[in-house]
Amino acid sequence: MQADARRRPWTTAAFFWMYAGWAAVGAALAEPLVGALTAAFWAELGLAALLMPGRSAEDETDPLVLQIRVAAAIEGVSRSMGVPVPGVTVRETPGRLASARLLRGRPQVVISPRLVARMDDRELRGLLAHELAHLARGDLRAARLRLRLAYAFGLLLGLGAAIGLGGQSVLLLPSCAAAWFAGTLAGLILTAPLNWRREIRADADAAGLTGDPEALTRSLLMADALAGDSRSRVRPTALRWAVAPFYWRFPTHPSTSRRVGALQALAAGRAPS
Ligand SMILES: [Zn+2]
Repeated sequence: MQADARRRPWTTAAFFWMYAGWAAVGAALAEPLVGALTAAFWAELGLAALLMPGRSAEDETDPLVLQIRVAAAIEGVSRSMGVPVPGVTVRETPGRLASARLLRGRPQVVISPRLVARMDDRELRGLLAHELAHLARGDLRAARLRLRLAYAFGLLLGLGAAIGLGGQSVLLLPSCAAAWFAGTLAGLILTAPLNWRREIRADADAAGLTGDPEALTRSLLMADALAGDSRSRVRPTALRWAVAPFYWRFPTHPSTSRRVGALQALAAGRAPS
């Protein structure tokens, strides 16, 4: 596992840098501006792939203990929601601390070990209830639709670039690939706010089910702080600027302050019990 985690960034980086080199040759022999921009794009991706902290020894403290703790909590929450118990994976995923997804058609919750280790049981229940609410409400189908729209947009841009530049030279192939990549990313960013309503609803569902909006609020704030902390783990420090764009918050969720505000309003609106 460790060897895998270490080898993968080098392979990915080498792949992106090969594209950068290819584009640089394209810049020298065909289209100077397009080629140079493309070379910079792929070189930056290669650098980021190498520097982004992935799995490391400090993330893997007692993974089994964390897994058991999450599995026990999710069973309780699923039962009280009346939904099937999803699978649980405790591991780091770049850019996401907790998420629900379908793995070969089977619902699964993926959660960061660093986040689990910091949360108490109430906070963990709140966060898991939020992810289960997504599964129960069919939010993953909407997410898949947004993903397909983004892919289609990327493909359109890539094809546009291929038609615009393509006929000229195979040297500009990395530019078409960059257009496809950037187009997909743009598609994801543009469609992301369509998800906000579902996030607020999943928060409300989770707060209602657990009767504990305060704990969910704390877990949201904790996840926010931890996401900021990930940035500070990039080494060497002098190269942190290079990965800065990869830590911009992807706008699939409303801001944490907005979510916390909605939860506070909910807590205030509830009759005291
Ligand atoms: Zn969510």
